[in-house]
Amino acid sequence: MKPLCDLEFAHRYVDALPADPARHPGTRLVADACYSFVEPTKVAAPHLLAWSGLLADELGLMRPGERDASVQILAGNALARGMRPWAARYAGHQFGHWADQLGDGRAISLGELTARDGRSRELQLKGAGMTPYSRHADGRAVLRSSLREFLCSEAMHALGVPTTRALSLVATGETVVRDMFYDGRPRAEPGAIVCRVAPSFVRFGNFEMHAARGEHAILRQLADFVIAEHFPELDGADPARYARWFREVCERTARLMAHWMRVGFVHGVMNTDNMSILGLTIDYGPYGWLETWDPDWTPNTTDFAGRRYAYARQPQIGAWNLARLAGSLKSLFADEAPLHEGLDHYRQTFARTHRRMLADKLGFAALDREDDDALLEAMYALLAAHEIDVPIFFRNLTRLHRDRATTPDVLLRDALYDPAAFDGDAGVELRTRWSQWFARYRARSSLDPTSQDVAARCAGMDLINPLYLPRNYLAQQAIEAAEAGDVSVLERLLTVLREPYREQQGCDDLAARRPEWARDRPGCSALSCSS
Ligand code: AMP
Ligand code: MG
Repeated sequence: MKPLCDLEFAHRYVDALPADPARHPGTRLVADACYSFVEPTKVAAPHLLAWSGLLADELGLMRPGERDASVQILAGNALARGMRPWAARYAGHQFGHWADQLGDGRAISLGELTARDGRSRELQLKGAGMTPYSRHADGRAVLRSSLREFLCSEAMHALGVPTTRALSLVATGETVVRDMFYDGRPRAEPGAIVCRVAPSFVRFGNFEMHAARGEHAILRQLADFVIAEHFPELDGADPARYARWFREVCERTARLMAHWMRVGFVHGVMNTDNMSILGLTIDYGPYGWLETWDPDWTPNTTDFAGRRYAYARQPQIGAWNLARLAGSLKSLFADEAPLHEGLDHYRQTFARTHRRMLADKLGFAALDREDDDALLEAMYALLAAHEIDVPIFFRNLTRLHRDRATTPDVLLRDALYDPAAFDGDAGVELRTRWSQWFARYRARSSLDPTSQDVAARCAGMDLINPLYLPRNYLAQQAIEAAEAGDVSVLERLLTVLREPYREQQGCDDLAARRPEWARDRPGCSALSCSS
């Protein structure tokens, strides 16, 4: 284990790809380049607020003291050996519309490290100051959005959902002015910087940028670099290699969407510049967790009118975004057939993976019986009929296997209504329908091969239905405490969320449904893009 400040960094991305020749930080349109060199802007008084020990172990890094030399690096005030900081140039489709050049407006990559698994990781500061891609914004980030990104990155990793990671959360000692409610009343908030870590932060939008400008040679260079570095298993002659690569990107994106649906994650801003070429969850903004069954729900107040990025639309949007990527990769292929095949592969992989995960959530070997779709429909109809916390509903299904002797009324109360119903006992009709569904579910379960071993079935269900999630109201409590100088709430959340599937003593409050006070409170359910 070493301190960050003693490490030597690599810069393969920078070495392999063309740079913007201009070095000044001013905002501009950049041509014929994958990135611009830019140094982080120093901050007044940085101190470490949170650290991911798990990720640090993977990187072989020692936890620094609150104001150590390493914290200066994590705040953008100093550089380690070998760091050649850059901001990536990319474009994107935002809310269905071509947005042209976007780029890293407040993220600055520092360099690459070799992790203990022998593979490379890029370290990137988010909120480290202006870059050529900052457009009209300030290059900074507030503590509340940085804490949410830090917390959720590490929680998603523990949930088994592919994601970029977060190593540190550093307070800058400076304020950042934001109009959080977009109501013309900006206020100064504490600023922060997250150090994000991933094998690569390349997005669909990087390829869209070069395609839009007809920079076909650079696009090919970027594709070759990404494949060689991050898809080394793909070899052979081009364009077959590109076809296998695109198919693999489609497959990873499909699996990612299935995971999001499984845990109830709603990204909130699935623009093509927020889609990782490695199939990772990237750019945590106004994300949220589906609590009651409303497929049309989004946490993002900016998307309330269109609901383009609502929970149930995410798989479709994944396909739409891949189609934009496919469009930008045309120059790599003699004809479009491999691109269409990739998109078909996405649909098939998503459908298959989603169904398999649903079967696992229900404790079935497969959803392959004639009545299974009707069972699912009845379940969704009941979840939609009143306000039931969906994660708790799934988690408690094991009670129907374990508590065979409990009477239906008591089971209904203990496993469903008390823990999961926001509106309490919703009347005799719903009670009857739920009891009937429980009976139907049990009958279906008893026909399943998994019924042989109740303990194994329940253990399996517990490994796919999380007990603890970084729900927005929990994150908000951690934010309010941190803003008041107390990081213990965040630390407790981080510790529990390291093992989201295992019941932990004294943590019932973190597994509870959203309390009533949080229903309409800002940050506790819905969020704006202000960050
Ligand atoms: P997002 O949808 O939040 O991922 O951001 C879209 C674009 O806006 C990206 O190019 C970001 O780098 C840029 N951006 C967002 N916030 C800021 C900021 N405070 N300063 C500079 N650029 C920003
Ligand atoms: Mg983004």
